[in-house]
Amino acid sequence: MAAWSRKSYRTARAALVRVASPVCRGEGGDPVKWGHAPIHASKQSSTRAVAEERKQTVERTLSIIKPDAVAKGAIGDILKTFCDAGLTIIAMKLIHLDEDGARGFYAVHKERPFFTDLVAFMTSGPVVVSVLEGEGAIAKNRELMGATDSTQAEAGTIRARFGTDIERNAVHGSDGPDTARIEIGYFFNASEIQAPVEAL
Ligand code: ATP
Ligand code: MG
Repeated sequence: MAAWSRKSYRTARAALVRVASPVCRGEGGDPVKWGHAPIHASKQSSTRAVAEERKQTVERTLSIIKPDAVAKGAIGDILKTFCDAGLTIIAMKLIHLDEDGARGFYAVHKERPFFTDLVAFMTSGPVVVSVLEGEGAIAKNRELMGATDSTQAEAGTIRARFGTDIERNAVHGSDGPDTARIEIGYFFNASEIQAPVEAL
């Protein structure tokens, strides 16, 4: 059998990297991050420097597709919205929260007048919890979600498309890095999370 040329080796390697990629990689995915671009030896050090820089800005955020959106059959549309925006799904499960689970997750709101209704809503059916990763993932996800009150959410946002009102608003997203860390740990242990950032 003929020896592999450098070109065919690179082509095969790029295909392997693609197969090994996680659940989805949106249009905004970066070829440097994902290893699609052929890597020349002379460019390896600068590629590594770019990758190091990327690690600093890449964030993770917790998303929940709430019971109303799951019941509407909107899981696929919402996940596609994340992917199209360049966010990568690195963990995901379909679960049905029990009362303790919902109370614990939204404990920050336990003194609010809407807390009992919120817990009833969040336990009314299955939800999809996922970890999204990408540059500025926390703010990007909040932007995709739209305003808390679905009736006030900007046209085209997930809440405008699939929410109903201020309570039944289709999705949850972490509101900051500390919250994201706590919320991700609430639903996922380390072995349930794929780790493309570390794999750079
Ligand atoms: P989330 O935390 O779910 O991403 P959010 O950060 O936009 O939403 P929060 O103020 O944290 O909004 O409220 C948590 C959730 O509680 C809302 O998403 C909504 O489901 C519910 N909620 C908030 N305000 C009200 C309200 N005034 N009446 C009823 N439900 C509310
Ligand atoms: Mg919130």
